[in-house]
Amino acid sequence: MTKPALALVAHDAKKDSMVTFAVTHERRLAQFAIFTTGTTGGRILDACPTLDITRLKSGPLGGDQQIGAMIAEGRIGGLIFFIDPLSPMPHDVDVKALTRLSVLYDIPMALNHSTAELLIGQLA
Ligand code: PGA
Repeated sequence: MTKPALALVAHDAKKDSMVTFAVTHERRLAQFAIFTTGTTGGRILDACPTLDITRLKSGPLGGDQQIGAMIAEGRIGGLIFFIDPLSPMPHDVDVKALTRLSVLYDIPMALNHSTAELLIGQLA
């Protein structure tokens, strides 16, 4: 049986928070095929090396767009994206596009830690 797919992304200021989330929920996350942007995935894999993680490109180099394309293709069942609301970013438009597609395709999406806690409890 193929595992459901979950996308995990965190902006730089939120990567520690994402690692904490992954360590806390490692057993639940093990049920998923996880897709991440490049740096986020590297950080999670350092902390949780047994998770099934496919690292796409780094966000600013197109990783958010790759995840957006997977959502449009129906290949992602949920998105946990710890965004940084305080820093301007060169790939702001990609972040907007990714969240827009998540709304358009009506996939469960958490943009902060507390919502992610609720979401993972429902998905896994
Ligand atoms: P990163 O990308 O995981 O490669 O840092 C995330 C982002 O900035 O969208």
